[in-house]
Amino acid sequence: MEKWLQLTTIQHRCFAAAGSRCWKCSSLEVKNTFFCASCGTIRETSKDEDFFELLKVKQEFKIDSSTLVQNYRHIQSMIHPDKFAQKSEQEKTLALEWSSLINKAYRTLSKSIDRGKYMLALKGVSISEENTSVDKEFLLDMMDVNESVEDAHSADELQQLGSQLSVDIEALNSKLIHLFETDDVDGAKETIIRLKYMLNVENTIKEKLLQLNLKS
Ligand SMILES: [Zn+2]
Repeated sequence: MEKWLQLTTIQHRCFAAAGSRCWKCSSLEVKNTFFCASCGTIRETSKDEDFFELLKVKQEFKIDSSTLVQNYRHIQSMIHPDKFAQKSEQEKTLALEWSSLINKAYRTLSKSIDRGKYMLALKGVSISEENTSVDKEFLLDMMDVNESVEDAHSADELQQLGSQLSVDIEALNSKLIHLFETDDVDGAKETIIRLKYMLNVENTIKEKLLQLNLKS
């Protein structure tokens, strides 16, 4: 990572911490993400919350899915609106804000492609398909697969195409683990774009299979 970027990240964290004074008792205690350590009141949300930190999982592409689900459910139960039925309007609103933020964090981290994009965004890298080159050979391959999917009329054919695609998608996910481990940002960016192409085709296959099932 560039030095200035590292610095900005650190400064940013300090500001975030300084801003997290409890809205009710003004305590600066920031140990707990969701509740003030001094008075126990639900804290204010911030736009800069790190999804990995929120859900208490390591910031790695190879995520521990069972810990992720477990932590997500645990946090959702802590901030469930039912628990705030007797509380002030402000606390109810904050519980809802946390709830939607936690949902968003969970949705983002549980899907590999969204997790990858988010990890790149944390490094200050955004993905726009127009500006990132994917090699022509890959695009031609994808066009072939798309055509095969369009031409396929039986569930068998579609399932066969789907299972080949799952193998390829799995391979890209493994590749991404390595690319993020070695901090190969450009490689990760290109691989995520390939993954997006493949997931689109996979969706088309699923939709076609669903239509076939509805007809039969
Ligand atoms: Zn407090």
